[in-house]
Amino acid sequence: MTAQLKTNALEAFFMPFTANRQFKQAPRLLASAKDMHYSTDDGRKVLDGTSGLWCVNAGHCRPKIVEAIQKQAAELDFAGTFQMGHPKAFEAASRLVNIAPQGFDHVFFTNSGSESVESALKIALAYHRARGNASKTRLIGRERGYHGVNFGGTAVGGIANNRKVFGNLVAGVDHLRHTHDLARNAFSKGEPEHGAELADDLERLVALHDASTIAAVIVEPVACSTGVLIPPKGYLKRLAAIAAKHDILLIFDEVITAFGRLGTPFAVDYFDVSPDIVTTAKGITNGTIPMGGVFLKTHVHDALTQGPENAIDLFHGYTYSGHPMAAAACVGTLDTYQDEQLLTRASTLAAYWEERVHTLRDLPHVIDVRNIGLIGAVEFASKPGAPGERAYTRFVKAFEKGLLTRQTGDIIALSPPLIITESQIDELIDIFTAVLKDSD
Ligand code: PMP
Repeated sequence: MTAQLKTNALEAFFMPFTANRQFKQAPRLLASAKDMHYSTDDGRKVLDGTSGLWCVNAGHCRPKIVEAIQKQAAELDFAGTFQMGHPKAFEAASRLVNIAPQGFDHVFFTNSGSESVESALKIALAYHRARGNASKTRLIGRERGYHGVNFGGTAVGGIANNRKVFGNLVAGVDHLRHTHDLARNAFSKGEPEHGAELADDLERLVALHDASTIAAVIVEPVACSTGVLIPPKGYLKRLAAIAAKHDILLIFDEVITAFGRLGTPFAVDYFDVSPDIVTTAKGITNGTIPMGGVFLKTHVHDALTQGPENAIDLFHGYTYSGHPMAAAACVGTLDTYQDEQLLTRASTLAAYWEERVHTLRDLPHVIDVRNIGLIGAVEFASKPGAPGERAYTRFVKAFEKGLLTRQTGDIIALSPPLIITESQIDELIDIFTAVLKDSD
């Protein structure tokens, strides 16, 4: 394709979270993928350093998942799940609750992380109303939190760019401060030492609004999309204790951390903190077919299902909740995770990963390197007057040199598929080191 033709062919798609005009002048197009690698449309191999968009945990185009989707497409293309059902959705749900942390016996299906968040927030309100606490409606999020892009998720999220042009979003939302503190915690390995006391922000919001008005607090155990903000030691436990004390539901948004990213099936297992609701998506189908799942603790589920036998339990759901193809992809994914023990594999790689990621610390303009599980991040000093540019140019160069990374602000995040080998970790770090040495 000539450059001009290519530009014309790309025009119609108004791309999400993209500088469209800039991208279409020099597009990056991925044409195929296998295991740890993408291939570009011009035939270059690119090492996947970000599991697609944090979702392809088992690597690309895995046979069991491909077969499951193909078989399901030929057998049952669509069946709804409103007062109806089909076997694959029930199979997927049972398989999911089997690997979910203790006490999470039910899962509500959605089609994305954003929908999982909206569903969780609505379920929290419905839970309190069902228990006679209809005044508990206020929602608490956190600065620099990312909970997808629908109105509820944008409102509890803490990203100015995502919020500022969308008016009032949802009323009755407040935020905890974020926990990112380079002055105290730069170059931490794993959980940073300082900042557990920031969880007490929830007490301050209780004092301000009264617990009788607060339904839920939602946090990502590790806030990945805004640059890998790792919770300080003890922070999540402290937050959970305050929430429980005031009958505020704790929602963990595990859209990224669920399905093995930290070396345990869920972040709940890693941090040994038990919330009331857990939102998931991405790795639930290894990124293949859109799907999300909201995991409910028994008390949450039971509060919603205590009405008369013939009453609808929750007036909420999606045409595609538990879609046959997604459900089949989910079962094929869980088979793959289990066959290859991928849900715990990051724990065996974590020490090597940590050591290699931290070799980046003395490269030009690096002001922080951090890691947890099979996640890493490098933060750069911003160029005066051009925030984000340093990381963006490194992201582009890395792609040209055969490595896919994820840039957010002046941070680059790394989160390769869980099938990565030690020598592929070396390759990833070597490419990235060369890029960082070579950039101003
Ligand atoms: N919550 C979290 C924690 C996420 O990381 C993401 C996506 N990165 C979402 C929600 C939104 O998911 P989706 O893009 O599938 O709507």
